[in-house]
Amino acid sequence: MPSPSSGMTPADFAVVYDKFKAAVSRYDCGKFCSPLNDGSPVCCSTKHAVPVVDKAEFKFLKSRTDLWHTFKPYDAATRQIVDELHHTCAAIECKGARHCERDNRSVACRAFPFYPYITREGDFVGLGTYWTYEDRCWLISNMKVVERDFVQEFVAAYEYIFSKDEDEYATMKSHSASHRRVFSRRGIPIPLIGREGGFLHVLPRSGGRILPLPAGRLPKFGAYVSQSAYREAVEKAGGDEVTFTASFQL
Ligand code: SF4
Ligand code: SF4
Repeated sequence: MPSPSSGMTPADFAVVYDKFKAAVSRYDCGKFCSPLNDGSPVCCSTKHAVPVVDKAEFKFLKSRTDLWHTFKPYDAATRQIVDELHHTCAAIECKGARHCERDNRSVACRAFPFYPYITREGDFVGLGTYWTYEDRCWLISNMKVVERDFVQEFVAAYEYIFSKDEDEYATMKSHSASHRRVFSRRGIPIPLIGREGGFLHVLPRSGGRILPLPAGRLPKFGAYVSQSAYREAVEKAGGDEVTFTASFQL
C-alpha cells in the first residue's frame, strides 16, 4: 500500500486529510471482500496490505490518535517490505477494522484501491487501481459504484501532494508505467476512472493510448467474475457468502 514519501510536513497532512474525506462509495465494500479474508476487509489487514506512510504523516497521526503503531514484520515478505522502505517512510499498522477511526485513516487507507494514474507525457488523467489486489478487492471489479465526490477529493488531495512532493509524483508516474507494462504483457486494457468523471481505458501495446470506456464494459476479476466464482472462492476460504443485491448483479 504505497503512500506519499517525502516533502510533506505534518501540517500538509492536515490539509490533505481535510481535502480528502469522502467515502469511496455508499456501499460497505468490506462486506464483500471480508468473507474471503477471515471476516476482515482485505485492505485493513496487514496479512494483505501493509500501510506505508511518510514519517511526517505518522507524526501527524500520533498527535491525533493512538490508533496506529509501528508495524512489526511477521515473515520474510513483510521483513523485506520494512527493509526496503525509503528512509522518509514508515510501515504502520492500525488496531484493526473494528477500531477504525474514520478521521484518522491514512492517505493510503482513504485512497485504496486507487492510485493517481499518470501518462507517459506526465498528465494525471485519472484513478488507476493497485492491480495486484484485483483477485481480492471487490471494488476493483465494481468501479461504477465509486462516488463522484470521492474522485474530486482524490484528485484535489493528490494535486496538493504532488505540488509539495516531487518524489511522490515520480513514484506514481513510474507505477503507472509498470501498470502499462504489466497489462500490455497480459494483453488487456487498464481501466481508469477519469478525473473529470466517466471511465477510460488505456489500450495495451499502444504507447499508452487512452479511449473512453462505457461503464457496462468495466472489467471484473478473480472471485468477482460471477456469483458462482464468488461462492466457490468463499467456500474455499471458509467464509459466509454475501448475496449480491440487485445493483450488484454480476
Ligand atoms: S476497498 Fe477493496 S479490499 Fe478494501 S474493503 Fe473495499 S472491497 Fe475490500
Ligand atoms: S485505519 Fe481503518 S481503513 Fe485504515 S487500515 Fe485501519 S481499519 Fe482499515
